[in-house]
Amino acid sequence: MGIEVNFEGKIALVTGASSGLGARFAKVLAAAGAQVVLAARRTDRLKELRAEIEAEGGAAHMVQLDVTDYASIKSAIAHAETEAGPIDILINNAGVSSSQRLLDVTPDDYADVMDTNLRGAFFVAQQAAKRMVARSKGDPKLQHRIVNIASIAGLRVSPQLGVYCISKAGVIQMTKAMALEWGKYGINVNAICPGYITTEINEGFFETDAGRKMISALPRGRLGTPDDLDGLLLLLAAEESRFLNGTIVTADDGLSVQ
Ligand code: NAD
Repeated sequence: MGIEVNFEGKIALVTGASSGLGARFAKVLAAAGAQVVLAARRTDRLKELRAEIEAEGGAAHMVQLDVTDYASIKSAIAHAETEAGPIDILINNAGVSSSQRLLDVTPDDYADVMDTNLRGAFFVAQQAAKRMVARSKGDPKLQHRIVNIASIAGLRVSPQLGVYCISKAGVIQMTKAMALEWGKYGINVNAICPGYITTEINEGFFETDAGRKMISALPRGRLGTPDDLDGLLLLLAAEESRFLNGTIVTADDGLSVQ
């Protein structure tokens, strides 16, 4: 039996596609045949990525999106569907971090992280899911996928990253709640908990002495790179993964088993 997983005919929207993991997820899905919709605030970066994807033979659209702004979420999802067509796959990836002791967290620090990582991710998924549910009522065989990008910080706490950890723990529980409510509409909702992967969110830290010390304490003494998640992303986005729903997958090079 020959079996080939491909994403031709699928439309995948990736939030926070302007850098790091989001940019990589978009490239991987496009290389696998999906039409991707790149969503982020920095449209100059999205234009560059779209050109890169097109130069490699892929198809990409872009929409401006600020996940902290509910009106922006609604209009970006609507715009994405007008431009590209119905969204089959959502990669809910946009995120920010901040570092301070819990005793020093201000209401603004708290809001910055929670409004992006949790409230933002919730309403992006909700807006996409409303449309997916409506379509699945017309055609119950339709398959949709939502992949939330949580973090190992949602499973274990790290010093100075308390609010980030709280937000990502919320994303994990959110994933399970969505899976429970939306599974019957053919929407599978799963989460990836990456370990430490070099991107703009952390590269400054990993160049410091404390950062280098942390790298040397990792199980294989190395950071990940965004392409380390390619296989997992494709697995969770694939139509063939019908029985994976509400699953939280850790991808941390063994850090959590230490
Ligand atoms: P990154 O900083 O390169 O990417 C984050 C993306 O989110 C950027 O494109 C940024 O512009 C976008 N974003 C931030 N606020 C936004 C907003 N209000 N509206 C729209 N887009 C917004 O970092 P990354 O490492 O690629 O992070 C991607 C996701 O992976 C985040 O959710 C992060 O928490 C998670 N994560 C990263 C690591 C890691 O080690 N890099 C580990 C675990 C989880």
